[in-house]
Amino acid sequence: MTISKIGVVGAGTMGSGIAHICALSGYDVCLADVSQEILDKAMAVIEKNMGRQVKKEIIGQDDMDKALSRIKTSVDLKETGDAQVVIEAASEDMGLKNKLFGQLDQICPPETILATNTSSLPLTELAAVTSRPDRVMGMHFMNPVPMMKLVELIRGLATSDETFQIIEDLTKKLGKTPVAVSDYPGFVANRLLIPMINEAAYVLMEGVATREDIDTVMKLGMNHPMGPLTLADLIGLDICLAVMEVLYKGFCDSKYRPCPLLRKMVQAGHLGRKTRKGFYDYE
Ligand code: NAD
Repeated sequence: MTISKIGVVGAGTMGSGIAHICALSGYDVCLADVSQEILDKAMAVIEKNMGRQVKKEIIGQDDMDKALSRIKTSVDLKETGDAQVVIEAASEDMGLKNKLFGQLDQICPPETILATNTSSLPLTELAAVTSRPDRVMGMHFMNPVPMMKLVELIRGLATSDETFQIIEDLTKKLGKTPVAVSDYPGFVANRLLIPMINEAAYVLMEGVATREDIDTVMKLGMNHPMGPLTLADLIGLDICLAVMEVLYKGFCDSKYRPCPLLRKMVQAGHLGRKTRKGFYDYE
């Protein structure tokens, strides 16, 4: 399969980053979302981020101009119909993703590969709403997409070896490092990261150490670039809680029980940086 065009569905944080790297790697991109306003905002973000790369001399002005001209935006999902690969990066909601995969299955020819950037939803279930479960895969990019090297490639139960190979090659062409992962709750990245954050919340709740000291332990003791509580505020405590719930329900194992303090903070609306209050204050 020769890939020349990639559809990206959802133009939020992740979708705009994915469109950014696809266009810079020479692919035509159709970026789709529900409103032109969202798409215009996404294009402005992409332009700003590419501009930053030009300033840092990571790419040339010419690369940026060409890449921008390769991205078309649309509020009509049908515009992704002639892409060889469609990467879905819409909001993390199983009902929404089921609906989108059903629509994409109707719109795209049978050979098109449908990929999802979901962080936590069961890929095999998503593949089952399509008539091509062998051509459905997870491509779990990390945030911010243009900077982070890793992509978890998730095989559903029915994903074919051919599909995996095509997406693995594409990932490398996008300048990323793929790792192969099976479809289990949290994949690898979130299964390791989020329980660590959850445990940090328990350590804080139990009064074992202060928030600053917990973060210092992991920064100076383990060489992590940032402590788990600072990282939780960056990710969003609602997202951390949602992933813990996915692990808890998915494995039916009490070792993944969400920390009551984390739950209480989400209930209070203290979600981290985005609400200016989380484990730390950002006023
Ligand atoms: P976001 O809220 O920034 O963007 C989601 C976008 O989807 C919005 O622009 C929204 O308008 C759009 N959307 C909603 N319904 C749509 C529809 N019917 N058709 C087209 N677009 C639609 O979310 P995000 O952080 O970019 O996350 C997107 C996906 O990526 C989620 O599955 C998430 O789990 C995953 N993910 C997020 C991160 C992260 O750090 N933010 C990291 C890895 C994976």
